[in-house]
Amino acid sequence: MRSGPSGLEDMKLRACRRISYLLPQAKRSSNEVLLIGEDMPDPINILVVDDEQIMRDGSSRILSKDGWEVLTADNGQQGLEIIRNQPDQIDVILLDLMMPGMSGMEVLDHIRSIDPNLLVIVITGYATVESAVEAMKKGAYDFIPKPFTPDQLRIVVRRALDKRNLQKEAEFLRREREKSLRDIATEKSKIKTIINCMGDGVLVCDRDGYIVLTNPAAGRMLKVSETSLIGNFLSQCNLDPELSMTIEESLKSKDLNYTSVSQELGIGESGETFLRAHTAPVRSDLGETMGSVTVLQDISHLKELDKMKSEFIAMVAHELRAPIAAVEQQLNVILNRVAGDLTEKQEKLLVRAKERTKGLLNLIKDLLDLSKIEAGRMVQYKEPLTLQEIIQKVVDLMRVEAENKKIDLQFPIPSQNPLIHADRTSMEGIFTNLISNAIKYTPEGGKVWVSLSEERGFAKALVSDTGIGIKKDDLPRIFDKFYRVRTIETRQIVGTGLGLSIVKSIVDAHLGSISVESEEGGGTTFTVLLPKESNPTS
Ligand code: ADP
Repeated sequence: MRSGPSGLEDMKLRACRRISYLLPQAKRSSNEVLLIGEDMPDPINILVVDDEQIMRDGSSRILSKDGWEVLTADNGQQGLEIIRNQPDQIDVILLDLMMPGMSGMEVLDHIRSIDPNLLVIVITGYATVESAVEAMKKGAYDFIPKPFTPDQLRIVVRRALDKRNLQKEAEFLRREREKSLRDIATEKSKIKTIINCMGDGVLVCDRDGYIVLTNPAAGRMLKVSETSLIGNFLSQCNLDPELSMTIEESLKSKDLNYTSVSQELGIGESGETFLRAHTAPVRSDLGETMGSVTVLQDISHLKELDKMKSEFIAMVAHELRAPIAAVEQQLNVILNRVAGDLTEKQEKLLVRAKERTKGLLNLIKDLLDLSKIEAGRMVQYKEPLTLQEIIQKVVDLMRVEAENKKIDLQFPIPSQNPLIHADRTSMEGIFTNLISNAIKYTPEGGKVWVSLSEERGFAKALVSDTGIGIKKDDLPRIFDKFYRVRTIETRQIVGTGLGLSIVKSIVDAHLGSISVESEEGGGTTFTVLLPKESNPTS
């Protein structure tokens, strides 16, 4: 396959070919002939309409010699018939004005009505210069007075052919331009149709935050009319504030690492529709932000499914808790020798069974906490409190566990004890999880310490240990539900992978933040920031 030129180049090349067609064969370069050979052009036809045979034959001979195809007619009627039968074949007409029957002028009138672009050179006698002028007024292109020399004929014909050449070239370019415009229009409407038919919502903004493209799905999902979106500035469209903020941030961000942001949005007064919005900046080759594209997906059904699953888990966990707690109680009774003596082997087996039962109860507790968080029932009773009393209570409860592992657990009296507005039980949950993890993941003889301070409007609590640490790769995932780091050191440690995700949910519900710093084998520090009570009552 020939790799052809494209676009403008192709147009130019084709225009060149047209020009070549209009040159007599003898004048073409070998290159041009080769080019034309791929797509043989129509020969150039010149029609001579003259009643004098000597004129017809003479003109025909001169012009054919130059490589042009010459047709002849000995009267006007015949000439017009040829033109009508093959209007596209005739390029130039040599027309004698003085003919018997239909006069040259009449023929000229008819030619103009057939095709006003046909080039007519009128052949006039000495005495008919006025007629030549009249013929020119009627639209003839040129005239040649009789008698003429072969060169005079060639000059006048070439001039006409040059003009014809330009006419054809202009026509060709006009058609190409029209075709390109048609192609662009088709392409545009194709894209518009595709975007309009998409199930996902699309919102495209320019660099100033004006919405330049959207589709019916976006309007439906965002609960605004499509027409109120297009052509308006983001802030005028009554969009979800979180979404507007994300789009504006993506437009403002100069950081080339800022690629895209995914967020979940609750739309509608009671948040009955859930959307996942994926916003990405659009950048030029030079890295300049040109706009942003947001794709919206309705995930309400997934949320509903998730809720049903959570409710099912909560129900199962709830139903399991009572019988397993009863089993643990019975095991305690037997281990306390209330039901009689035990051999050493029996005791060992029962202690193991009790540990496994305790693990199960912890899992059930975590699952119930998680369902409560997901149902928005975990953080319900916020009150002014200080973290010192909470942490102290948890540290006291954990002390036995720490001593069993010969771990030095410390909570020095803090110099600052900021007041926060929080749910007491949830706060206990946070520090129970963090301190018990610190003890669990620190080998015997290690150290765990907790500190409390105040920092820029936040209460800041640190839980540090000298334990096994967390690999860099695992750090981003430890707050995910059910995520547990699998190493030789953690294999023997019982856990559900739910603790930190519960902690994070509680911190989020209090508008705080949690972060972790860790080094494999070098200990871990969790930092919890919780906003201080804005109007302290004490
Ligand atoms: P788990 O029930 O497994 O402890 P968590 O959600 O509480 O679940 O913790 C998730 C994972 O994070 C744990 O499996 C553990 O690998 C890692 N991790 C948590 N706290 C620490 C810590 N103090 N030191 C080392 N690893 C930790």
